Amino acid sequence: MRVEYRCRHCGQSMGDVERPGWSRADAELHCGVAQLSAVERAETVSYNEEQQVMTVQSVCDYCQQALESHPEVLVEGKLLQ
Ligand SMILES: [Zn+2]
Repeated sequence: MRVEYRCRHCGQSMGDVERPGWSRADAELHCGVAQLSAVERAETVSYNEEQQVMTVQSVCDYCQQALESHPEVLVEGKLLQ
């Protein structure tokens, strides 16, 4: 299974991990997703069963900094560009 990390605000790819031996449960365990509530998990993780890809929504350094210094730029979960 392949795990891709993506910024939830700007959609930028933050890296990926290729672990052919991982099942979906393994991937969730290793990425700390297993501890999340069902709601948090649904917001954070999406799957592409066909391609065996798990996408984890995170926040990239750029957006993290932008949010900390300018919280007002965050409008409905999207950064104004
Ligand atoms: Zn970002």
